[in-house]
Amino acid sequence: MSLFVQKFGGTSVASIQHIENVARRIIATRDSGHDVVVVVSAMGKETDRLFSLAQEVGDLGSATKREMDVLLSTGEQVTIALLAMMLKKLGAPAASFTGSQAGIATDRSHTKARILKIDKERLLNTIKAGVVPVVAGFQGMDDEGNITTLGRGGSDTTAVALAAILNADECQIYTDVDGVFTTDPRVVSTARCLERVTFEEMLELASLGSRVLHTRSVEFASKYKVPLRVLSSFSDKPGTLITEEDDAMEQPIISGIAFTPDEAKLTMRGVRDIPGIASRILGPISEANIEVDMIVQNVSADGSTDFTFTVRRDDYDQAISLLENVARDVEALEVNGDNNIAKLSLVGVGMRSHAGVASRMFRVLSDENINIQMISTSEIKISVVIEEKYLELAVRALHSAFELGTESAVEVKG
Ligand code: ASP
Ligand code: MG
Repeated sequence: MSLFVQKFGGTSVASIQHIENVARRIIATRDSGHDVVVVVSAMGKETDRLFSLAQEVGDLGSATKREMDVLLSTGEQVTIALLAMMLKKLGAPAASFTGSQAGIATDRSHTKARILKIDKERLLNTIKAGVVPVVAGFQGMDDEGNITTLGRGGSDTTAVALAAILNADECQIYTDVDGVFTTDPRVVSTARCLERVTFEEMLELASLGSRVLHTRSVEFASKYKVPLRVLSSFSDKPGTLITEEDDAMEQPIISGIAFTPDEAKLTMRGVRDIPGIASRILGPISEANIEVDMIVQNVSADGSTDFTFTVRRDDYDQAISLLENVARDVEALEVNGDNNIAKLSLVGVGMRSHAGVASRMFRVLSDENINIQMISTSEIKISVVIEEKYLELAVRALHSAFELGTESAVEVKG
């Protein structure tokens, strides 16, 4: 007998009919002799709806964050009640629990709280009594008894945290896609659903835009070694298992290609090559809460150098004006930028033991006449910045050159 945490996302519980399907899946797992702890999201786009109601009220400053959490947490509360009712109707004993009822304690950062500890007594007793606990994802309670939420997409993290504390055999994240793909199937029709991927690769793929899992949930799963499976609640396919690297298995060199289209780059030219310059350039950017991704500083010539970094396109205008101020301060030659760039990364743990991946990648891009503007590498990733209009071409060319696809095209929904 195993214990599974099964998490169902918004699209999987979008209507009563969907909730019935989910209940039948849970019952089928129980019928094959396993215990199940269920975590759910709000129905469909409910969180978005609640969020826009709050926006209609206006004033979304920090003063209203506590109330925002009270509001947003109601979405999950509706789903736990309905699913528990449905399970009972279909003959399975079940009980709904809000985050705090399930013992989930968080810090006090409203709208982006972190789980600090989980008191598992109540859930354990529920399981022992043969009852299915249905827990509201995305929420908890701080030490003053306030409702908190974990940030958008946070139900995945609730599921993984419960799986860790309950020592579950697997945390299964049910969603509306078959699993984690080699790249976005909307761009490459032969993209293949991966059977298995390592935590490390998944973190690169998730943060680089394969928006299947909440990044923090993968970090959590990796830290506590919780096997994580992403699978569809609309099919019976096995999905993708995300686990630790297994030396016994032959690793593919490349597991996937991640990309983000909406990036921008900024360059400061002619900055003096002296200690403290990088921090003077990036300090104001990080104070403005702008996330910086790739950073490249040139080797200096004649005591001066160039400094280039990328940000999300939304942050471009603000970043440019901050940088112009800095440029005056540090007496740089000029600032320029480009907000029509995209980033593309090859990810794979097999790169560690295979040379020549980068040169092969660059050759493929050159054969397509695509200019590489920036390059950065890590042990399991090679990223390039290119002009945005060539992004899809580049992804397709690399996907086929590295033979990542299936023979036949996958069916693309929606
Ligand atoms: N309902 C929340 C959201 O839409 C949390 C989640 O679904 O993971 O972001
Ligand atoms: Mg989600």
